[in-house]
Amino acid sequence: MSADIFAPGFKTDPYWWEAAPRPRTAEKPLPAEADVVIVGSGYTGTSAALTLARAGRGVLLLDAEDPGYGASSRNAGYVGRTLWHKFETLGNKFGKDVGKDLAGQAVEAHNYAVNLIEKEQIRCYFDYCSRFIAAYTPSHYKKLAKDYAKLQEAGIEMNVEMVPREQQRSEIGSDRYYGGMLLHGTGTVHPGLYHLGLLERATGSGAEVHGRTKVTNIARDADNRFTVTTSRGTVKAKEVIVATCGYSGPEVKWFQRRILPIRLFQIATEPLPKETLDRLIPRGRALLDSKTNIYWFRRSPDGTCLIVGGKTGVEEGGLTGKAQSLHRAMVEVFPELKDVKVTHCWEGQTGFSFDELPHIGTHDGVHYAMGYCGVGMPMGTYMGHKVGLKVLGKPEGKTPFDGRPFPSRPYYWGWPWFLPIVMAYYNLMDWWDRVTSK
Ligand SMILES: Cc1cc2nc3c(=O)[nH]c(=O)nc-3n(C[C@H](O)[C@H](O)[C@H](O)COP(=O)(O)OP(=O)(O)OC[C@H]3O[C@@H](n4cnc5c(N)ncnc54)[C@H](O)[C@@H]3O)c2cc1C
Repeated sequence: MSADIFAPGFKTDPYWWEAAPRPRTAEKPLPAEADVVIVGSGYTGTSAALTLARAGRGVLLLDAEDPGYGASSRNAGYVGRTLWHKFETLGNKFGKDVGKDLAGQAVEAHNYAVNLIEKEQIRCYFDYCSRFIAAYTPSHYKKLAKDYAKLQEAGIEMNVEMVPREQQRSEIGSDRYYGGMLLHGTGTVHPGLYHLGLLERATGSGAEVHGRTKVTNIARDADNRFTVTTSRGTVKAKEVIVATCGYSGPEVKWFQRRILPIRLFQIATEPLPKETLDRLIPRGRALLDSKTNIYWFRRSPDGTCLIVGGKTGVEEGGLTGKAQSLHRAMVEVFPELKDVKVTHCWEGQTGFSFDELPHIGTHDGVHYAMGYCGVGMPMGTYMGHKVGLKVLGKPEGKTPFDGRPFPSRPYYWGWPWFLPIVMAYYNLMDWWDRVTSK
């Protein structure tokens, strides 16, 4: 693979920032005090800001970079209704009833985010396009059917349809897979526009947002208020919410020790003829495969090009190296795209918790919500709202995630040095599954 996969003007910023550039906030001084300071202005922080501002609280939303710089303007825009954990794993790990409650939260989160988009009329190309999960092996096909049947048996609202291999070309223009499963009631958005819409609603309701304002310390005072030190001055606050997820750094050490920042990568292709896109993704579904180290493919919201993600973990020679690797992945699945050029390759850090569950709660008086393990578009929006309700002292802020321990690991300080090994193991398992599966 040579450098000629790159389109002229190739960029390493997210494709989404073309239509939704990150806003620059005015450099006015920080207020001396606020009712609530929120650290991190992704979906979680912004959703919390919206809930709190609408309830009349004085909200200060801070981000170390421009607003929404983190995963919330970099993701794939899939609007799902499941957690990262398979339903069976949830039951095995946490017991059947708890598993059911936790899985049900993903549906709640989905409904909350979709209703919000509709109610607030956020123009973000929301499309209820359904998801096609392509089975990487024959046994994955059977497992998909089994896991989702269990979800339905447990009474969790899930509308699925199995598509055997002979019929898969109605969903994906590739013979690489062994059939797959359609998960209806799922969709896609333009993630950058969704974030901007949310931010506009929050600021329109009175929240004050400051980008390029890094929180460097949060101290609890004797009167149980907080002194929040930032790169641009100090603010007194009655309450603080930390919403830094996969971007949690040493300034919020307790959280950094509990979140694995997993690096995900995507490319966008040059514009493709409509007939090509209609052949590759005939019904415009959000595609992903069933590997552990998944690939995903979707049309851009304006229907002009393809967004491809995968090859999670290590960088492989910077973002240009990663672009080449993702291009190879794309050609593995869609050989006809071998001469197609790449316009953007970018990365983002998604926050995984060690138990692979979202977390919400309070530590040393500081509220937090994070660790959505790759499903944070709906879950971050929902948990942001919930943490906002908690600050307001509303019982509706409670979720089945409350009160769960938020584990770290001995000697884990925030640098996931072991990830390349874990991802190499997953790649090996994916390969082994493929060669041995019947
Ligand atoms: C490439 C990629 C693809 C993904 N695809 C999907 C998908 O299709 N669907 C889905 O549901 N989820 C997806 N996710 C996950 C989803 O994007 C995240 O779970 C979600 O955006 C997390 O939102 P958040 O607000 O909690 O955190 P973020 O959006 O990451 O925001 C955290 C913010 O905190 C700020 N910050 C950090 N430290 C400080 C500090 N000290 N002071 C001030 N600010 C600070 C950062 O600058 C950052 O802007 C994906 C993630 C990635 C990276």
